[in-house]
Amino acid sequence: MEGDCRLCGGDGRIGNALGRSTATCPGCHGSGRRGDTSTAFHDVTKTKPSHHARPEAVAKGPKVPVTPEGAQLASEVSASTVLTEDAKTRLLAEIMNHESTHGRCTQTFLKKVRKQARPGPGPKS
Ligand SMILES: [Zn+2]
Repeated sequence: MEGDCRLCGGDGRIGNALGRSTATCPGCHGSGRRGDTSTAFHDVTKTKPSHHARPEAVAKGPKVPVTPEGAQLASEVSASTVLTEDAKTRLLAEIMNHESTHGRCTQTFLKKVRKQARPGPGPKS
């Protein structure tokens, strides 16, 4: 949802690379919300510095787009009449992956996805 922490996707916890344990998300301190940066120093001294939790670029588990553009795009994809469910799932994952990599949706990316989501003038019509 809008305002969800983009490090943890809103669940407030982050699994480490080994998947054995979770740590409180440093981005939101467990609230799952995209916190304001003034509280960013609040809790970190309790955990080990640096390598305890890296923001992962890999999309895993159900997440939602965190940018307004991404959310808008996701709803366009979901509402698309030309995409299969598989294609929608793949595009949604792509959106979230793109967001986590770039921090937002680029215009190029928006165009690329919209082109696939819209019937538009295509060879078949
Ligand atoms: Zn978080």
